[in-house]
Amino acid sequence: MANKTAATLLAIVMLLPGAVYADEKHISIYSPVAIYTVPVIERGGREYVGLLELLEPLGRVSSQAGGAHWGLHYNAVAADFFAERTRARIHSRDFDLSAPFLIENSRGLIPVTSISDVLRRFLGAPVNFREASRRLFIGGVGTQVSFQLDANTPPHLILNFTFPVNPTISTEPGRLRMIFKRDPLISPGSQSISFENKIISQASYFENNGDAEIDIAATSSLMATFSNSRKTITVGPIPPQVASAISSTRGGTNSIAPAQGASTPATSLPGQSSAGASSPSQASLPAPVVHRVLAFIDPAHGGQERGAALSESVAEKNVTLGFARLLRHELEQRGFVVSMPRDGDNTLTLDQRASSANSSGAGVYIGLHAVSQGTGAAVYTALLPLQGISSGVFQPWNAAQSPSLPISRAISSAIVAEMQKREFQVRSSSVSLRPLNNLSMPAVAVELAPGGNGIDDLTSANYQQRAASAIADAVTSIRDRLAVQ
Ligand SMILES: [Zn+2]
Repeated sequence: MANKTAATLLAIVMLLPGAVYADEKHISIYSPVAIYTVPVIERGGREYVGLLELLEPLGRVSSQAGGAHWGLHYNAVAADFFAERTRARIHSRDFDLSAPFLIENSRGLIPVTSISDVLRRFLGAPVNFREASRRLFIGGVGTQVSFQLDANTPPHLILNFTFPVNPTISTEPGRLRMIFKRDPLISPGSQSISFENKIISQASYFENNGDAEIDIAATSSLMATFSNSRKTITVGPIPPQVASAISSTRGGTNSIAPAQGASTPATSLPGQSSAGASSPSQASLPAPVVHRVLAFIDPAHGGQERGAALSESVAEKNVTLGFARLLRHELEQRGFVVSMPRDGDNTLTLDQRASSANSSGAGVYIGLHAVSQGTGAAVYTALLPLQGISSGVFQPWNAAQSPSLPISRAISSAIVAEMQKREFQVRSSSVSLRPLNNLSMPAVAVELAPGGNGIDDLTSANYQQRAASAIADAVTSIRDRLAVQ
């Protein structure tokens, strides 16, 4: 009895490290300019990475090692590190690493736990490091996935990605695994989703050692097909005649690299490049027509719904309205047509706001919020929720934003850049925030927080004006990618 327990424990203890060492530790880095990995090395029980290797693919770098000093230039940013010391200096600012800096054969090593801090100081861009899974996202890159079950016979699970993907797919009876090594796939929000279906029962999402993985469980053997320029993967049961062909040539597990193995039906739809779809009338008109982009500005809250109480006398609903009017003015000056669901103190539901934006023909939606906590601003794009078949009717509504997400994210990045130019502390993230998910055009929400003067900033026309002109410049910089009326 005791022996058996000990043996079981030993097996567990042996398995865990085995799983880790099977694949060398590395960090996957996803940025707008490069996707790459850097190895993780252990020193004194801590994890380290080479700083030069981390920065090299992102810009121009050079390093000089001399004695205990290690100097680094990244583009125009200079930095100094010292062997065995935590204190370091980047861009004339001192700060502390979470563990001592190391120099080995002229190579400078920083602790993994300091990567976000160090990169932010060098890059001045948003950095999101998912430390547990060793995945690092720079500058707001990310591929979203949404799931839709087509419950016909046989059923198919349709995975829509916001950018083309190239997973390695392997199958075994009852299970299909997709491993994303080079795609900046973002967690769909929940770890697994169950389907009320006899054949395809569940989809699960994991992240580990720099990779993301989607597993699909089923009661029959599955196969995957790519379409829509690799932005859609359809998973369904293997047709009987194909199944028998496979089992006669291979046994058990089979693994396919998608580029050769999976069939890619040429079913790209005619209107796929949706940006150019709106000008059939232009050919018949003698003079060029100036199309204007309609911007839909949505001041959050209103009427009975006051929003956050920013102070005893200031309600969020009033701040958002004032801010919206300034932004309207800024956008009109830049040639946009502007529509707002309220220009007074009205109560509107989220569905009303979404329907009115969707039916307005707007090329862009900008939601406005205000908070008393934090500083600067936050820019949000939609994080699409996982949807099961049980909510089939709501699926198109909740995923309405999906096709527009790449442009929404481009607008978000542009707003971050413009606000940073005006010295706002600003961050961007994906959130499951309604009505963003329900909007059929590129959509962002901007949440304004106080600057250096506390809550007074939120009601200051000057402060709001700076934010509004930043947003207007950002949207203008993306105007060519927005649909015209
Ligand atoms: Zn709000």
